[in-house]
Amino acid sequence: MSIAAAKKADVKKDWNTLIRDVVKGDWRDPETDKPINVPFEAIRIEETLEGGAADLVAPLNLGRKIAVVSDSNTVEAMGRRVAKELRGWATVEEIVFPSDTHCDEATVAVMQERTRHCEACVAVGSGSITDTVRYATFKDGRKFASFATAASMNGYGAGTASVTLSNGYKTSLPAHAPRGVFIDLSVNAAAPTWLPAAGLGDSLCRPTAQVEWWAAHRLNGTRYTRTPFDLFHEEKDEAEMVRTAPDLARHSVEANGYLYRVLVEAAFGNNLIGSSHSGSMGEHQVSHWIDMFAGKNHPGTIHGQQVGVASIALARLHKFLLGLDKWPRIRPTKIAEADFVSRYGENIGRMMYGEAKKKALDEAGAEAMNRKLSEVWPQLREELKPMMIEPDEMARILKSAGGPTTATELGLPLPVWRDAMKYARDVRNRWSFLDLADDAGLLDEFLSNDPQ
Ligand SMILES: [Zn+2]
Repeated sequence: MSIAAAKKADVKKDWNTLIRDVVKGDWRDPETDKPINVPFEAIRIEETLEGGAADLVAPLNLGRKIAVVSDSNTVEAMGRRVAKELRGWATVEEIVFPSDTHCDEATVAVMQERTRHCEACVAVGSGSITDTVRYATFKDGRKFASFATAASMNGYGAGTASVTLSNGYKTSLPAHAPRGVFIDLSVNAAAPTWLPAAGLGDSLCRPTAQVEWWAAHRLNGTRYTRTPFDLFHEEKDEAEMVRTAPDLARHSVEANGYLYRVLVEAAFGNNLIGSSHSGSMGEHQVSHWIDMFAGKNHPGTIHGQQVGVASIALARLHKFLLGLDKWPRIRPTKIAEADFVSRYGENIGRMMYGEAKKKALDEAGAEAMNRKLSEVWPQLREELKPMMIEPDEMARILKSAGGPTTATELGLPLPVWRDAMKYARDVRNRWSFLDLADDAGLLDEFLSNDPQ
């Protein structure tokens, strides 16, 4: 069936309002009144795209020799179909990776090698396949397009790739956005429901990231813009995502549609500000820490599942800290290279110490932070209130979709979880409430009382 025919038969809602305007350059940033620039030629969310792959990909000028890359799950869900549909128009090489593919340096090299005869790649999959294609094509200067198969993360449209380096350090590397992102909601709704529950978890960090990014702006003077958050609210997409969350567990096309709108808007925010601040603060550091250092205790959960649990925990930490009438008194950061080496080993330990040291407060830094906190505390508490969602409410939303809401539900031993929360601040030079709480000597107390 052609897209036009499918539209006529099934489509009840136009899933591309606002998104279409942003991609065309017709949407104006309310803060600057200028159109925002995003690096996509096309983004399409439709209830079905069956029969339409060539019509979608051809205008992107990717070339006529295309590698369609999927994994052993997504090839069944959509990869074979996309390859078949593209065959009339291009020479297609079908490449299937194992279902447990991770985006690490070795796999990126294999991806470059296996697709090198092709002018461009079309990724058909979710996080790992898409990021591996993203980084491989970025490295050798080819274009790519993405057919998403599960609403499990907000990175489909990202310009950065999450890559595990050969030394085991997981990091976000500059890469490039796909020329087109194509979402067939029927295919996505058929995916195992824990995948969109993970995407919901990844989206639940909106309040925690906004609180921390705004607080960092007020306390440390880092740049902030509210436009990424305005995008979620302009057409009430965040509210609709929350309303339909329970239906994610029932393979609902509508619930996947609203979730995808939020995931795409998160990618717009990322591209708009040129960094991940609007969607990745302390809660993401906790998830990265788990991926890098949980070792044999890692329960095999994915990014969005961990971010969901961490977002709820960070929201509780925010509530605890912002519930204090008197501002938390900061002491110089306790940081020693030897501790980093003993926690993370020689190689990564020294590298992480170098990064964490940049945000560590010495005597003068702590004094300056205390002065700033004393000036803004009552006002800051008021400013942050409208950005927050009650942690119990966040847990209820995530639970309704079938997602894990505690470390225990993730399958992570409690001591490992507490280490993740305690040491997540080591992961990168980005200030969060985990730094604030630990430098105030309040994090250990919070963690020993926090139900998980
Ligand atoms: Zn994320």
